Amino acid sequence: MMKRIFSFLLIFSVFFIPFRFSASAEELYGKVYCRNTKQAGKIALTFDDGPHPRYTQEILKILEEYHVTATFFIIGVNAVNYPSDLQKIVDCGCELGNHTDTHCRIRNLTEEEVRLEIKQCEDTVYQLCGVRPCVFRPPEGLMNEYLKAIAKDMGYNVVLWSIDTKDWALTPPKEILKIVKSQIRGGDIVLMHDYVSGGNTTCNALRLIIPELLRCGYEFVTVSELIQGDHE
Ligand SMILES: [Zn+2]
Repeated sequence: MMKRIFSFLLIFSVFFIPFRFSASAEELYGKVYCRNTKQAGKIALTFDDGPHPRYTQEILKILEEYHVTATFFIIGVNAVNYPSDLQKIVDCGCELGNHTDTHCRIRNLTEEEVRLEIKQCEDTVYQLCGVRPCVFRPPEGLMNEYLKAIAKDMGYNVVLWSIDTKDWALTPPKEILKIVKSQIRGGDIVLMHDYVSGGNTTCNALRLIIPELLRCGYEFVTVSELIQGDHE
Protein backbone atom coordinates (compact mmCIF):
# COMPACT_ATOMS: atom_id res chain seq x y z
CA MET A 1 0.00 0.00 0.00
CA MET A 2 2.78 2.45 1.04
CA LYS A 3 4.65 1.59 -2.11
CA ARG A 4 1.61 2.42 -4.20
CA ILE A 5 1.14 5.77 -2.49
CA PHE A 6 4.80 6.64 -3.02
CA SER A 7 4.63 5.64 -6.68
CA PHE A 8 1.59 7.85 -7.10
CA LEU A 9 3.36 10.78 -5.41
CA LEU A 10 6.44 10.28 -7.56
CA ILE A 11 4.48 10.17 -10.79
CA PHE A 12 2.50 13.23 -9.70
CA SER A 13 5.62 15.23 -8.85
CA VAL A 14 7.46 14.29 -12.04
CA PHE A 15 4.64 14.84 -14.47
CA PHE A 16 2.31 17.39 -12.95
CA ILE A 17 4.27 19.79 -10.73
CA PRO A 18 6.58 21.06 -13.52
CA PHE A 19 3.55 21.67 -15.74
CA ARG A 20 1.73 23.42 -12.94
CA PHE A 21 4.56 25.85 -12.31
CA SER A 22 5.93 26.24 -15.85
CA ALA A 23 2.88 28.15 -17.12
CA SER A 24 2.86 31.67 -15.66
CA ALA A 25 -0.33 33.64 -15.09
CA GLU A 26 0.63 35.74 -18.11
CA GLU A 27 0.90 32.66 -20.30
CA LEU A 28 -2.44 31.37 -19.08
CA TYR A 29 -4.43 34.58 -19.08
CA GLY A 30 -2.48 37.04 -21.22
CA LYS A 31 -0.84 40.32 -20.26
CA VAL A 32 -2.44 43.59 -19.32
CA TYR A 33 -0.34 46.52 -20.51
CA CYS A 34 -0.36 49.73 -18.48
CA ARG A 35 3.02 51.18 -19.52
CA ASN A 36 6.36 50.10 -20.93
CA THR A 37 9.38 51.19 -18.92
CA LYS A 38 11.68 50.17 -21.77
CA GLN A 39 10.25 52.92 -23.99
CA ALA A 40 11.67 55.74 -21.87
CA GLY A 41 11.30 58.55 -24.42
CA LYS A 42 7.84 57.61 -25.65
CA ILE A 43 4.24 58.34 -24.67
CA ALA A 44 0.99 56.81 -25.97
CA LEU A 45 -2.11 59.00 -25.85
CA THR A 46 -5.36 57.02 -25.92
CA PHE A 47 -8.93 58.21 -26.55
CA ASP A 48 -11.91 56.07 -25.52
CA ASP A 49 -15.61 55.93 -26.43
CA GLY A 50 -15.56 57.49 -29.92
CA PRO A 51 -15.98 58.13 -32.65
CA HIS A 52 -17.93 61.28 -31.87
CA PRO A 53 -19.25 63.49 -34.72
CA ARG A 54 -17.67 66.65 -33.34
CA TYR A 55 -14.88 65.88 -30.88
CA THR A 56 -13.07 63.08 -32.75
CA GLN A 57 -12.42 65.43 -35.67
CA GLU A 58 -11.31 68.16 -33.30
CA ILE A 59 -8.85 65.79 -31.60
CA LEU A 60 -7.51 64.63 -34.98
CA LYS A 61 -7.01 68.26 -36.05
CA ILE A 62 -4.91 68.93 -32.94
CA LEU A 63 -2.88 65.73 -33.41
CA GLU A 64 -2.21 66.65 -37.05
CA GLU A 65 -1.22 70.17 -36.09
CA TYR A 66 1.55 68.78 -33.89
CA HIS A 67 2.33 65.81 -36.16
CA VAL A 68 1.68 63.25 -33.43
CA THR A 69 -0.18 59.93 -33.42
CA ALA A 70 -2.42 58.25 -30.85
CA THR A 71 -4.75 55.27 -30.34
CA PHE A 72 -8.55 55.47 -30.42
CA PHE A 73 -10.42 52.74 -28.51
CA ILE A 74 -13.69 52.94 -30.37
CA ILE A 75 -17.17 51.60 -29.64
CA GLY A 76 -18.63 49.50 -32.47
CA VAL A 77 -22.09 51.11 -32.54
CA ASN A 78 -20.57 54.62 -32.62
CA ALA A 79 -18.42 53.58 -35.58
CA VAL A 80 -21.53 52.46 -37.45
CA ASN A 81 -23.12 55.87 -36.80
CA TYR A 82 -20.05 57.91 -37.79
CA PRO A 83 -18.14 55.75 -40.29
CA SER A 84 -16.22 58.59 -41.97
CA ASP A 85 -14.57 59.51 -38.67
CA LEU A 86 -13.17 56.00 -38.41
CA GLN A 87 -11.46 56.29 -41.78
CA LYS A 88 -10.08 59.72 -40.81
CA ILE A 89 -8.44 58.18 -37.73
CA VAL A 90 -6.67 55.62 -39.94
CA ASP A 91 -5.76 58.26 -42.55
CA CYS A 92 -4.07 60.32 -39.82
CA GLY A 93 -1.75 57.39 -39.05
CA CYS A 94 -3.48 56.69 -35.74
CA GLU A 95 -4.37 53.25 -34.40
CA LEU A 96 -7.86 51.83 -33.86
CA GLY A 97 -8.43 49.80 -30.71
CA ASN A 98 -11.44 47.66 -29.72
CA HIS A 99 -13.58 49.02 -26.85
CA THR A 100 -16.48 46.53 -27.37
CA ASP A 101 -19.56 46.95 -29.51
CA THR A 102 -21.93 48.60 -27.01
CA HIS A 103 -19.70 49.68 -24.08
CA CYS A 104 -21.45 47.19 -21.82
CA ARG A 105 -20.25 45.93 -18.44
CA ILE A 106 -18.58 42.85 -19.88
CA ARG A 107 -17.79 41.32 -16.49
CA ASN A 108 -21.51 40.54 -16.19
CA LEU A 109 -21.70 38.72 -19.52
CA THR A 110 -21.36 35.05 -20.46
CA GLU A 111 -18.30 33.97 -22.46
CA GLU A 112 -20.39 33.85 -25.62
CA GLU A 113 -21.70 37.37 -25.04
CA VAL A 114 -18.19 38.73 -24.32
CA ARG A 115 -16.86 37.19 -27.52
CA LEU A 116 -19.74 38.68 -29.48
CA GLU A 117 -19.13 42.18 -28.03
CA ILE A 118 -15.47 42.04 -29.06
CA LYS A 119 -16.10 40.39 -32.44
CA GLN A 120 -18.90 42.76 -33.48
CA CYS A 121 -16.68 45.79 -32.85
CA GLU A 122 -13.79 44.13 -34.69
CA ASP A 123 -15.96 43.26 -37.71
CA THR A 124 -17.38 46.79 -37.86
CA VAL A 125 -13.88 48.28 -37.92
CA TYR A 126 -12.82 45.81 -40.60
CA GLN A 127 -15.88 46.45 -42.77
CA LEU A 128 -15.52 50.23 -42.51
CA CYS A 129 -11.79 50.65 -43.04
CA GLY A 130 -10.18 47.28 -43.77
CA VAL A 131 -8.07 46.99 -40.60
CA ARG A 132 -8.46 44.63 -37.67
CA PRO A 133 -7.68 46.09 -34.23
CA CYS A 134 -5.15 44.14 -32.17
CA VAL A 135 -5.48 46.04 -28.87
CA PHE A 136 -8.48 45.77 -26.57
CA ARG A 137 -9.56 47.95 -23.65
CA PRO A 138 -12.57 46.84 -21.58
CA PRO A 139 -15.14 49.55 -20.75
CA GLU A 140 -14.17 51.36 -17.52
CA GLY A 141 -11.04 49.22 -17.40
CA LEU A 142 -12.98 46.47 -15.61
CA MET A 143 -10.96 43.32 -16.08
CA ASN A 144 -10.51 39.85 -14.60
CA GLU A 145 -8.55 36.71 -15.45
CA TYR A 146 -11.49 35.20 -17.30
CA LEU A 147 -11.85 38.21 -19.63
CA LYS A 148 -8.10 38.38 -20.14
CA ALA A 149 -8.08 34.77 -21.28
CA ILE A 150 -10.89 35.41 -23.78
CA ALA A 151 -9.21 38.53 -25.19
CA LYS A 152 -5.91 36.66 -25.51
CA ASP A 153 -7.63 33.76 -27.25
CA MET A 154 -9.14 36.24 -29.72
CA GLY A 155 -5.67 37.59 -30.55
CA TYR A 156 -5.77 40.82 -28.54
CA ASN A 157 -3.32 42.63 -26.29
CA VAL A 158 -5.27 44.05 -23.35
CA VAL A 159 -4.35 47.69 -22.69
CA LEU A 160 -5.28 49.81 -19.68
CA TRP A 161 -3.33 52.97 -18.73
CA SER A 162 -0.79 54.41 -16.29
CA ILE A 163 -2.09 58.02 -16.22
CA ASP A 164 -5.78 58.85 -15.83
CA THR A 165 -6.30 62.48 -16.88
CA LYS A 166 -9.78 62.43 -15.29
CA ASP A 167 -11.21 64.19 -18.35
CA TRP A 168 -14.24 61.91 -17.80
CA ALA A 169 -15.01 64.07 -14.73
CA LEU A 170 -14.82 67.24 -16.86
CA THR A 171 -11.63 68.24 -15.07
CA PRO A 172 -10.54 71.72 -16.25
CA PRO A 173 -7.76 71.68 -18.90
CA LYS A 174 -5.17 73.34 -16.63
CA GLU A 175 -5.86 70.73 -13.94
CA ILE A 176 -5.44 67.96 -16.51
CA LEU A 177 -2.09 69.46 -17.52
CA LYS A 178 -1.08 69.47 -13.84
CA ILE A 179 -2.04 65.79 -13.48
CA VAL A 180 -0.05 64.82 -16.56
CA LYS A 181 3.01 66.96 -15.71
CA SER A 182 3.21 65.63 -12.16
CA GLN A 183 2.90 61.96 -13.15
CA ILE A 184 4.48 61.58 -16.57
CA ARG A 185 7.33 59.12 -17.05
CA GLY A 186 8.61 57.69 -20.31
CA GLY A 187 6.60 54.70 -21.48
CA ASP A 188 3.31 55.94 -20.04
CA ILE A 189 -0.13 55.24 -21.52
CA VAL A 190 -2.44 58.24 -21.01
CA LEU A 191 -6.22 57.79 -20.70
CA MET A 192 -8.47 60.40 -22.34
CA HIS A 193 -11.86 60.35 -24.07
CA ASP A 194 -13.32 61.43 -27.43
CA TYR A 195 -16.57 62.12 -25.74
CA VAL A 196 -17.64 62.83 -22.18
CA SER A 197 -21.29 63.17 -21.22
CA GLY A 198 -22.18 66.74 -20.22
CA GLY A 199 -19.34 68.61 -21.92
CA ASN A 200 -15.75 68.26 -23.02
CA THR A 201 -12.45 69.51 -21.65
CA THR A 202 -10.29 66.99 -23.51
CA CYS A 203 -9.53 69.06 -26.63
CA ASN A 204 -8.46 72.15 -24.69
CA ALA A 205 -6.36 69.99 -22.37
CA LEU A 206 -4.73 68.36 -25.36
CA ARG A 207 -3.64 71.78 -26.63
CA LEU A 208 -1.72 72.21 -23.36
CA ILE A 209 -0.41 68.67 -22.92
CA ILE A 210 1.05 67.96 -26.36
CA PRO A 211 3.32 71.04 -26.66
CA GLU A 212 4.45 70.60 -23.04
CA LEU A 213 5.43 66.95 -23.56
CA LEU A 214 7.09 67.73 -26.90
CA ARG A 215 9.08 70.45 -25.12
CA CYS A 216 10.22 67.79 -22.61
CA GLY A 217 11.47 65.69 -25.54
CA TYR A 218 8.86 62.93 -25.58
CA GLU A 219 7.84 61.18 -28.78
CA PHE A 220 4.19 60.22 -29.29
CA VAL A 221 3.48 56.71 -30.54
CA THR A 222 0.50 54.36 -30.82
CA VAL A 223 -0.17 51.87 -28.04
CA SER A 224 0.91 48.94 -30.21
CA GLU A 225 4.24 50.65 -30.87
CA LEU A 226 4.68 51.45 -27.18
CA ILE A 227 4.03 47.96 -25.82
CA GLN A 228 6.55 46.28 -28.06
CA GLY A 229 9.15 44.65 -25.84
CA ASP A 230 8.85 44.52 -22.08
CA HIS A 231 6.23 46.17 -19.89
CA GLU A 232 5.36 46.96 -16.30
ZN1 LIG B 1 -15.14 53.64 -22.29
